[in-house]
Amino acid sequence: MFLKSINPATGEVIREYEEFHSDEINNAIEANFQAYKLWRKESINKRSELLLRAAQVLRDKQEGLAFNITVEMGKNITEARAEVEKCAKVCEFYAENGPEFLKKESIQTEAQQSYASMQPIGPILAIMPWNFPLWQVFRFAAPTLMAGNVGLLKHASNVPGCALAIENVFVEAGFPKDVFRTLLIRSSKVEKIIGDKRIKAVTLTGSTPAGKAVAATAGKHLKKCVLELGGSDPYLILKDANIDEAVDACVAGRILNAGQSCIGAKRFIIVDEVYDEFATKFTDKMRDITLGDPFDESKNMGPMARSTFREDIHRQVENSVNKGAKLLTGGYIPNRDGAYYPATVLGDVQEGMVAYHEELFGPVASLIRAKDEADAIHIANDTVFGLGAAVFTQNIEKGQRIAEYELEAGCCFVNDFVRSDPRMPFGGVKESGYGRELSHHGMMEFMNIKGVYIK
Ligand code: NDP
Repeated sequence: MFLKSINPATGEVIREYEEFHSDEINNAIEANFQAYKLWRKESINKRSELLLRAAQVLRDKQEGLAFNITVEMGKNITEARAEVEKCAKVCEFYAENGPEFLKKESIQTEAQQSYASMQPIGPILAIMPWNFPLWQVFRFAAPTLMAGNVGLLKHASNVPGCALAIENVFVEAGFPKDVFRTLLIRSSKVEKIIGDKRIKAVTLTGSTPAGKAVAATAGKHLKKCVLELGGSDPYLILKDANIDEAVDACVAGRILNAGQSCIGAKRFIIVDEVYDEFATKFTDKMRDITLGDPFDESKNMGPMARSTFREDIHRQVENSVNKGAKLLTGGYIPNRDGAYYPATVLGDVQEGMVAYHEELFGPVASLIRAKDEADAIHIANDTVFGLGAAVFTQNIEKGQRIAEYELEAGCCFVNDFVRSDPRMPFGGVKESGYGRELSHHGMMEFMNIKGVYIK
């Protein structure tokens, strides 16, 4: 069996990679497990030094890595370069802050000494998606390796070239052999690997069905998992919002990565008084989004990552229009090669329509009219998802209250679009998953926080 790299801008097969056989999988797990025994004893300073070197390798190879990303999953080359830079930043963040995060926490008791000591647990399996093929992996790998754990990567089947390139970054940075390994396998092989005694925990970024399958297997084997799944982020536009600024942030949040982001801006919930103004200005900006060759820096958006994703989103658009949503712009399959789909706006989206309830993983925005602020909050929470959310208002106190206490989501922004940042915790609630990535919190997910008590 082969994993295929297909250029979504042309449909051309770039390369085929032979899938690992069962003995190759076993050898990789064993090598990773053996590497852990030494790596866990490596000094924190050394781990930090190697992560800084990984950041340097990423910057030195930025152009080649960005090319790999764009050719395998179609994002605009400018966004691909920025993704590589963000990976360098997350390596630096954990190299610089990891030593502090990993310090023992002294605890006052009647003992001579008592404290919590942060100890690694072993090989962690990371099941990762294609949408940010480098970033999703580095945000797992940097804290994991810094903490003294080791990593095994099962990347999405459509980005094997990126998967191998990532392993190579760690090799070039001088990490000990086998501390980070890529397994070229399909998802059908994952269940057995999660059950392997040498694997201590699993993290998955991807769809909710994949998350449920992995959680069930991890549960059966009593292994911890972190799940970062789908989202249908609500963006609340209140009547006192600065509409022009809100429109700019909302368009940016919707078209990034051709709309294929778990924290993409997906449902725009606008209070009645400003609905028409927002809808007109937002649609005008979406209509101006240029679609084209992802290597052409003058274009805003490349193709979607696979033609099947385009079929899925087009079906969701058609279904919603048939139920009464208004097609304000886009919503057609362009007459050209490649998995291109235009920036699309659906107006008057209501309960009962696909665009109201399902995640739209592509450049399609749903505009939903709310009676007032309370109704907007109700609609925002009327979803199985709970990843990100944003609220636009000039009353910061009100925005903060809604973001902090009212919205059922893991990452809430006021007057800006939702994005991940190494310094901030990242993750969801409800069917968007559980556990956190990034920041101090992300690093603690796969630690044995050991209580030590000396009488
Ligand atoms: P999947 O969830 O199917 O794939 C993500 C990763 O999980 C891939 O490595 C995939 O492997 C693996 N995987 C899939 N099913 C299983 C399983 N049962 N057991 C173990 N691993 C599994 O996403 P798709 O690529 O199919 O995208 C479809 C939808 O997923 C999108 O429309 C979007 O809703 C959501 N998604 C969310 C992302 C996010 O950032 N949260 C990222 C990508 C997708 P393989 O490729 O071999 O199938």
